[in-house]
Amino acid sequence: MPIVERTEEERMILDAVGQIAADYGPTRFAQAGRAGEDTTELWNNLARAGFIGITIPEEFGGSGQGVGALSLVLEETAARGCPMMNMVAFSVYVTVLIKHGSEAQKRQWLPGLADGTKRLAFAVTEPNAGTNTHKVQTRAERTESGWKISGSKYYITGLEHASGILVVAKTGEDPVTGRGKLSLFMVPADAPGISKSLIPTDMRSPDLQYTLFFEDVCVGEDAIVGKEGEGLKMVFSGLNAERIIVASLCNGLSRYAIDRGAAYARERSVWKAPIGTHQAIAHPLAEAYARLQSSLLMTQRASRIYDADEDAGEASNIAKLIAADLATFALDRAIQTHGGNGMAQEYGLAVLWIIARVQHIAPVRREMTLNYFAQNSLDLGKSY
Ligand SMILES: Cc1cc2nc3c(=O)[nH]c(=O)nc-3n(C[C@H](O)[C@H](O)[C@H](O)COP(=O)(O)OP(=O)(O)OC[C@H]3O[C@@H](n4cnc5c(N)ncnc54)[C@H](O)[C@@H]3O)c2cc1C
Repeated sequence: MPIVERTEEERMILDAVGQIAADYGPTRFAQAGRAGEDTTELWNNLARAGFIGITIPEEFGGSGQGVGALSLVLEETAARGCPMMNMVAFSVYVTVLIKHGSEAQKRQWLPGLADGTKRLAFAVTEPNAGTNTHKVQTRAERTESGWKISGSKYYITGLEHASGILVVAKTGEDPVTGRGKLSLFMVPADAPGISKSLIPTDMRSPDLQYTLFFEDVCVGEDAIVGKEGEGLKMVFSGLNAERIIVASLCNGLSRYAIDRGAAYARERSVWKAPIGTHQAIAHPLAEAYARLQSSLLMTQRASRIYDADEDAGEASNIAKLIAADLATFALDRAIQTHGGNGMAQEYGLAVLWIIARVQHIAPVRREMTLNYFAQNSLDLGKSY
């Protein structure tokens, strides 16, 4: 399938990642999701080839490239039917650690993250503080030797693999606005006082979600990341990267769906000619194809702006919005093209539709991307 112009280097990344993901295969990936098993082997294979640590600075074992390079990894794995949602949170905590971590925190975590031997979880969402992060109630209080953290988080991905958790906790309150002053902490996942419970979901994805509890979890002074009270600012510095990564995952899913849909439509014949000759089947796939070209361009543009260290807020929100909308549309049309087989495990499409659908909710809500344009691009004010 023709895709937007890529440099020689970008093509090399896509080819190498594509080979690793194809060797693992969509069938195995989907089976792991259905069985609640992990895809550590795929993660390790990508890590060994240097693709997990692609954005981590060379001095910490990575190859020091930009988010554009990581986004190719996300796109190509998804385009081979292996959408790696666990890399979405990865893009946030790695960005935060690179930008705001102390030298000691970087030395402790980044080499293991680069070679795939360590993973983290990122914990911000709470039952009463979803979209409104300012309402976070998990508290970190000063002790003689550091901090004591208490509270709970939910929908935290990947705790089963995490050696550490990047936690957003309240360390004070703004006396004027009453809003929580939030700070960031790196907490060992096995610290006494931490427990978790699995949230059963209807997603059939290898990445599991948990409720996470902190009961008087004591950490040292050095656990705080960056400056006290600036937690949200630091998290926001990772969110544009995350949006670009989600857009790339969605673009990969769209490529997979269009590819599978068109292949089936060319082969399947129930009247005189292949079903792809019926415009009711052909046009939606053709529309998805045309939309994909512009979605890829927008994601590429957002990552170039981000990697040039310019303000990528609008571009990364647009990229995420159109890519997520397209991925559910493309998978829906691929399912329709397959008729009854659209529901068959053998064809593995319905299971991917759910993964695409999640991208409208998490990590970035569709409504909040639209709020961004309404407020910042159109100056229409804020309702919340
Ligand atoms: C698969 C999955 C993985 C996740 N992984 C993580 C993780 O690793 N770490 C983590 O911290 N969290 C994680 N989350 C949580 C996710 O980020 C939240 O679900 C998300 O922030 C929304 O919060 P909420 O579910 O409380 O929805 P709510 O905040 O209750 O929102 C409900 C609906 O109202 C809409 N809404 C809310 N406010 C506004 C507004 N002002 N204007 C317009 N619409 C609005 C929202 O867009 C949404 O559609 C994950 C969630 C899922 C489903």
